[in-house]
Amino acid sequence: MKNDIIRIPEEEMERQRGFADAFAALPRRPETYYIVTYGCQMNAHDSEKLAGILDRMGLRPAPDKREADFVLHNTCCIRDNAERKALGNVTWLKELRKERPDLLIGVCGCMVQEPGMAEKLIKQYPFVDLAFGTGNLHELPELLLRCVESGRRVVSVPENESTLAEGVPIRRASSLTGYLTIMYGCNNFCTYCIVPHVRGRERSRSSRDILREAEELRRQGFREIMLLGQNVNSYGSGTGDLSFPQLLDECASLGFERIRFMTSHPKDLSDDLIRVMADRPNIMRHFHLPVQSGSNAVLEAMNRRYTREKYLERLRALRAAMPDIGVTTDLIVAFPGETERDFEDTLSLTDEACFDSAFTFIYSPRVGTKAASMPGQVDPDTAKARIERLIAVQEKNTARVFSSLIGQTVKVLVTDRSRRGGGEVTGKCERNISVNFPGDGEDIGRILPVKITAASHTTLKGEAARE
Ligand code: SF4
Repeated sequence: MKNDIIRIPEEEMERQRGFADAFAALPRRPETYYIVTYGCQMNAHDSEKLAGILDRMGLRPAPDKREADFVLHNTCCIRDNAERKALGNVTWLKELRKERPDLLIGVCGCMVQEPGMAEKLIKQYPFVDLAFGTGNLHELPELLLRCVESGRRVVSVPENESTLAEGVPIRRASSLTGYLTIMYGCNNFCTYCIVPHVRGRERSRSSRDILREAEELRRQGFREIMLLGQNVNSYGSGTGDLSFPQLLDECASLGFERIRFMTSHPKDLSDDLIRVMADRPNIMRHFHLPVQSGSNAVLEAMNRRYTREKYLERLRALRAAMPDIGVTTDLIVAFPGETERDFEDTLSLTDEACFDSAFTFIYSPRVGTKAASMPGQVDPDTAKARIERLIAVQEKNTARVFSSLIGQTVKVLVTDRSRRGGGEVTGKCERNISVNFPGDGEDIGRILPVKITAASHTTLKGEAARE
């Protein structure tokens, strides 16, 4: 499919910088902000951009939403409960405003971009002062200035989601791992998924812009980069630019110690990509490869465009080239029409694939998607029983993988003190599993060899091999 990008012209970005300056110069305006982020890494990175823009407008981050003058909810709508949670939390702010009448409430992100949501916010959430979508995030200076100057609510959701903005300032949440978006949107139209409807069609950034940003991250001392997109391995299709394996190879040559990417579609997992990964030890041995179902009938109804056999073949190819690679996945149960036999196919695939871990979900109908109106919606009790059986199989496999790592030495990028305290630090190993081990603040930012001594349900435990 053709990559129909409308790049936001530099003059428009300059105009937005002008609004940011005008906002900063206002005699009476919000001074602090707090961003609440829902959903995936793409959204987390969008929040880094929102924070960068707000910094540029002269605001400061507040440590807590109760102390902020402007609270912005960056929402997700991938599942119904994500949406209900966001709307519930936004409604809670109405109460906070009783104590703080000047509090400004904003909502942005995927949920706002959903068909009909802007109207719903206008009618049912009159206390929301500012709402905008994913496609006009770069217009935040203009929209917030208009909102504050006029004292009126501003709701602006672009119809055209084919735009791409470069040069948005970023406040990075980590000084170790830099998120780097390489493409936006998706052309796949899986029948259950709202993403193409809210994030628009696939738009790949130019490899020149991506590599320039990657070099900047390298100069700033980031040890790891995470390339982000809804379907990173179809990067570049239809543009004549680099393919994803070529881009990954270029990024790997810049000297980062670690490179990761997220998310991939099994149909686009090419031999070239496997070759590049196998040749580059700084591309981490982790592949998130959402399978969704083990039944060919369900995969077809989902419009996934691969079969169970093809998926397992790709998995074998990955593991043949990199025997130490960890594979994780997403699984949906109770998709419309899923029979007991289909579900058992998912159980058997999960068992055969032996994933390190899996995000498991009960199918959630989203208005506007094909699957929402499909016959054969599965009743909630059956769905609940199925997900419990699936989780049990996956837990057994996670335990199998984790126990096979006991006695091995893995390399861990230490990112934090362990939440359990007790003089422990934590970080991720090459295959993206959290590892806790004795250490102190001095270790944060180091990549240390750690000998694995034990495993829990979700993490590994070890001892650093210190010199
Ligand atoms: S590949 Fe499918 S599931 Fe993933 S974002 Fe695109 S439409 Fe949604």
